[in-house]
Amino acid sequence: MAKCAVCEKGAHFGNNVSHSNRKTPKIWKSNVKSVRVKTENGGTKKMYVCTSCLRSGKVERA
Ligand SMILES: [Zn+2]
Repeated sequence: MAKCAVCEKGAHFGNNVSHSNRKTPKIWKSNVKSVRVKTENGGTKKMYVCTSCLRSGKVERA
């Protein structure tokens, strides 16, 4: 999960850095929703789509 089926945006990685410069591993998860999407042959299917693809209309919700 946590990966968009349209643009393949997924989690990305880095460190939390405290004021004393200690580093702790951190994962930023993309805002991916499970949505029912209209397919070209008139049916619907469930896909994981990020909210930026939903907002820009790259998929049509059922
Ligand atoms: Zn996306």
